Amino acid sequence: MTKASENKKFFKAGDTIIKQGDEGESAFIIENGRVEILIEKEHGLVQSLGTRGSGSIIGEMAIIDKKARTASVKALEDSELLEITCQDFERKLSKADPVMRMIMQVVMTRYRDTIKRAHILGNTPGYPTPEDLEKGFIEKANALETIKTGNEFKEAIRNGEVLLNYQPIIEIKTSKVIGFEALMRWYHPEKGPISPNIFIPLIEENGFIVEASRWALEESCKALKRIEKQQERYKNLFMSINFSSVDITNSKFKEYFDTVLKKTDVKPQQIHLEITERLLIDEPEKAKETLQECRKTGASVSIDDFGTGYSSLSYLHYFPISTLKIDRSFIANMVEDKTSLELVKSIISLGKNMNLEIIAEGIETKEQKDLLRKMKCDAGQGYYISKPMPESEISEFMSQNT
Ligand code: C2E
Ligand code: CA
Ligand code: CA
Repeated sequence: MTKASENKKFFKAGDTIIKQGDEGESAFIIENGRVEILIEKEHGLVQSLGTRGSGSIIGEMAIIDKKARTASVKALEDSELLEITCQDFERKLSKADPVMRMIMQVVMTRYRDTIKRAHILGNTPGYPTPEDLEKGFIEKANALETIKTGNEFKEAIRNGEVLLNYQPIIEIKTSKVIGFEALMRWYHPEKGPISPNIFIPLIEENGFIVEASRWALEESCKALKRIEKQQERYKNLFMSINFSSVDITNSKFKEYFDTVLKKTDVKPQQIHLEITERLLIDEPEKAKETLQECRKTGASVSIDDFGTGYSSLSYLHYFPISTLKIDRSFIANMVEDKTSLELVKSIISLGKNMNLEIIAEGIETKEQKDLLRKMKCDAGQGYYISKPMPESEISEFMSQNT
């Protein structure tokens, strides 16, 4: 590293700018160049969290929390960075206009809360989870660049690299399969499997998500028809499909929803639209309108990852919601952690009071399932019941599900 001028730092391609585990005393704004953020995991695994270019800020957590660096940052090319030390930051803040100072303090408190929550939940939103790593879903910075700039994802769907896996959802009381959640997988021929946690946010950004979701709806409806044909003793299985806010706020959404259902001959009553709370907060009017239209057809609307988003529950009355899916972090912790257990109990009783169906996500042990049964949770999914699987394995799974 060479010192260019006061607070300006120059790094050559390959230089380490920030080292994971080091004490952090400053943040950097990238003025020129490109850097890569890397996390070192156990067993020497290194995971890339993506790249950042000019205008981005890196290492900002250090000047807020003054804790050890949680990731390393390397220069991918010769880069010029502006360093902001803790002292600079505090000095600037103390001199700032009182309103500005207050806003900064509120933002910083919220930021800390988000980080704390993400930590409690065991993962950082948007980043691959440890399970992703186990599955080999290691992000490749190059792959991301191509998705961002090219038509690669559209091509991938056409080439059959993008597939859906299905995770069974059971009625907890009887353990009987009542439906499936469709989950997208991308098996890149050179880059290997890429986690939906990585590619979904990117295709949301560049708009390909609309086409991808339409494809997922049609594929999963066709699969549901085939499953029903094979499994005569199962009637009215449902298919739960994840939709992004980009989908729900798209003016063509309801039109293609109707077209696909008609074409595949699936009853709207068999469709659960999975959305997250964020959509309801960001685009309330549009979301309400689209979801109401879908509900009128008989389809269900599920709130995904319930409990991780917003503390205001007033929206539960405002929006036409039929199902709450309790986030897996609460299920994972409820056996040991009283707060999580209380939260699960409250969500279940809230659901009963409001006539909502409750689905527990991420059931990994018999103990968790038994506890949920005692608490009268309606339905559940998770590795204990089954991992998401390709359609070809469903038949065998169903024959063992009595
Ligand atoms: P999600 O909607 O919350 O989906 C559940 C995720 O939890 C899935 O990860 C699933 O494999 C995982 N999971 C299920 N049971 C267990 C368990 O017992 N333990 C643990 N540790 N994990 C479990 P996956 O398939 O990697 O998907 C990640 C996320 O990507 C999804 O989270 C969803 O937000 C998004 N996603 C996946 N497919 C689609 C899609 O077709 N459209 C949209 N918009 N988003 C999708
Ligand atoms: Ca989901
Ligand atoms: Ca979820």
